[in-house]
Amino acid sequence: MLIVESDRSAVEQSLFAGELRCPSCRGELRPWSSARMRAVREQGRETALTPRRSRCTSCAKTHVLLPDTTLLRRRDALVSIGAALLQKAAGEGRRRIGAALLVHPDTVRGWLRRFAVRAERWRAHCWAWAHALDASLPAIEPAGSAFADALSAIGLAVSAATRRFGPRPGWGWVATITAGGLLANTSSPSPAP
Ligand SMILES: [Zn+2]
Repeated sequence: MLIVESDRSAVEQSLFAGELRCPSCRGELRPWSSARMRAVREQGRETALTPRRSRCTSCAKTHVLLPDTTLLRRRDALVSIGAALLQKAAGEGRRRIGAALLVHPDTVRGWLRRFAVRAERWRAHCWAWAHALDASLPAIEPAGSAFADALSAIGLAVSAATRRFGPRPGWGWVATITAGGLLANTSSPSPAP
């Protein structure tokens, strides 16, 4: 699996031009049919998404190309999950967050718990990314909780990536930096560049 930008035609162009790299061996990825259709939910509406599949010309492994608007094994759009994390850090509870996003409070609770469990890991990972992209960054001032510190580090990494490589819409950089695994049980997030 590889996180790619959400612009399908741009991904198609990169794929045909051999510009996408295999996450396993850095070989060239080429078009290879499509992955299974899935539904993506945002503000109570579902849209169908059929991710592109690619195949490495070196190691022959196939890789699903997942748009950066989504996370691994999550049905809800990343923009909703991201909004829930920010609202939680601002002191909101799961019921109000769920009501605002048209998501069941238990679903929100699941996101918040998963993120909290891995907050320290994401703080370290995103700080490594931020610092690799901009060595002049000052250390993060502790915000009082691991949850909030992780969000601060994510924000720094996204800003640094935007300054270096240009903006990505929505939470696109977060999907890229965490390799889609922000709320995964286990994942091998992209190492810092
Ligand atoms: Zn490969």
